[in-house]
Amino acid sequence: TFITFEGGEGAGKSTQIARLAATLRARSGQAVCVTREPGGSPRAEEIRAALLGGVAKPYGPFAEALLFSAARIDHLDRLIRPALRRGEIVLCDRFIDSTRAYQGAAGGLEPALVTALERVVVGPTRPDLTLILDLPPEAGLARAAGRGVGADRFEAESLAFHTRLREAFLAIARAEPQRCAVIDAARDPESVESAIRATVASRLPG
Ligand code: C5P
Repeated sequence: TFITFEGGEGAGKSTQIARLAATLRARSGQAVCVTREPGGSPRAEEIRAALLGGVAKPYGPFAEALLFSAARIDHLDRLIRPALRRGEIVLCDRFIDSTRAYQGAAGGLEPALVTALERVVVGPTRPDLTLILDLPPEAGLARAAGRGVGADRFEAESLAFHTRLREAFLAIARAEPQRCAVIDAARDPESVESAIRATVASRLPG
């Protein structure tokens, strides 16, 4: 079972993934693999460091999308697909919808290129369920700033950029309602956690 978490900055994805992983491990008796993008495998983590380092834009949008893609190919081959073949539950922090939203809708990469990359890089390895943690970008950016770590270059983008991102994630959820569920992430962590549990239980019974 392949579950991805998506959303803007400061939506609480890491907290909620850790909590869902603990719940699923206790309940299902199945192995749960927690991972993230960009990154998730040693080589992909090297690419992540190159992509997120510094606040200046190091690459153009297409080169950047290819670097994200290279990281994703390695991550899929070395971690995600082997775990799915072993029958594990894979929880991944960001996946294809972040590419569609960050590089596509907010970053200006042509939709045809985004679609082509998805077909070539991801192929049939699609998430069974995508949880989109939604909150107003002002609130998310304030939370992200409160983490105390320096802003990476995406967090440093304008409020307009983050607003386009949010709209992109919501549009994906409307277009693919069978795969996606929108979770109101503006609430306290316990409420978000129970909403996620309820969604997972109803969408992925058994
Ligand atoms: O999820 P996390 O905040 O750790 O993601 C790292 C950064 O990479 C984020 O700032 C996100 O905006 C950016 N990112 C991106 N395009 C992707 C995936 C992540 O710009 N496809």
